[in-house]
Amino acid sequence: MMLPTHALVGLAVATPVAVVVPDLATPVLAGALLGGVFPDFDVVATHRRTLHYPTGYMLASIPAVALALVVGTPGIVAVASLLVAAAVHCRMDRYGGSHEFRPWERKSDRAVYDHVKGRWLRAKRWTRYDGAPEDLLVASVAGGVALLALSGSFRTITAITLGVAVVYTAFRRRLSDLAGMMVGRFRAATELLRIGCGRR
Ligand SMILES: [Zn+2]
Repeated sequence: MMLPTHALVGLAVATPVAVVVPDLATPVLAGALLGGVFPDFDVVATHRRTLHYPTGYMLASIPAVALALVVGTPGIVAVASLLVAAAVHCRMDRYGGSHEFRPWERKSDRAVYDHVKGRWLRAKRWTRYDGAPEDLLVASVAGGVALLALSGSFRTITAITLGVAVVYTAFRRRLSDLAGMMVGRFRAATELLRIGCGRR
C-alpha cells in the first residue's frame, strides 16, 4: 500500500489511546506516525526487505506495549507505538500488491520479506497495488477516524496526508510511466557516453 495509507493507518490505530489518555497523545501519535512510514525508508536499499520485519516488529512490540502499560513514560510509549505501527505496516504490505515497478502487471508475487522464515511472503492483493482506488479507500477510512477524533497539529497532518494520498492515487500509473521513461533516457545517455569514451 502507498506510504500515506501506512501513515494514516498508524495514526488511526494510535487514535483511541490518544483520546483515552490525552496526556500521552503526542508520544503515541508521533510514534505511530514514524512507525507507520519507517519501514519504507528502505526504498533506497532492498525495498520491503531491509527495514521490513513482519514478525520481528510484532514480537518486539509485545514487551514494549507491556512496559508502556506499566511504566507509561512518554519515551517508552512512543517506542511501543512505533513498533506496533511498524508491525501493522509490514502486515499491510502482505495484503497489498506485489513489490515490482508496475504491480498491476503481476509479474512478481513478492510482497514483503520475512526474516524469520527466510523467504518472501506472497502478495495477497486485497488492494491490487499501491495507489489503487481501494488503497485510497483504506486511507480514507483510517484518515476519517483520525480527522474525527484528533485536533491540533496531528489533525492537520492527517488532512495533508489524505490530500497526498488522493493526488498519488490520481497519478500513480502515470508516475510509473514517467519514471520508466526517465530511467530509459538515462541508460541511453550513459550508453552513448560509454561508446563516445571508447572511441577516444
Ligand atoms: Zn512497506
